Amino acid sequence: MPATRPTTRKSRIRFCPKCGSVMYPRVKDGKRQLFCPRCGYEMEIGEEVLEAYKVKRKVEHSPREKIIVVDADKAPSTAVLLKGQVRCPKCGGDEVYFWMMQTRAADEPPTRFYRCKECGYTWREYA
Ligand SMILES: [Zn+2]
Ligand SMILES: [Zn+2]
Repeated sequence: MPATRPTTRKSRIRFCPKCGSVMYPRVKDGKRQLFCPRCGYEMEIGEEVLEAYKVKRKVEHSPREKIIVVDADKAPSTAVLLKGQVRCPKCGGDEVYFWMMQTRAADEPPTRFYRCKECGYTWREYA
């Protein structure tokens, strides 16, 4: 069987048709769309796709890059609050939750996650 594009039946998370990165939802000019943070590709989406992103509660792996989408509603209980050590790239706040999660192969270092206490912006950093 030839390789096909990832099925969207089980997961509605979409991958960029140009570079294969996980696409993220956003609203631009009043229209819902997905955009690729890597190459900037944009596509308009319907409400049902957005809903799929909203209810997403598990780690997703892109077939090509193993980029993950993590539920970012809140930091896990293992998160540590850092004060004055890390700055939020969005609002500049310096109270940031930090935690680590094994998102890739077990022999690779865990991914570091940060979440701004002030604005809730969440980002990650590979060790
Ligand atoms: Zn792309
Ligand atoms: Zn912030």
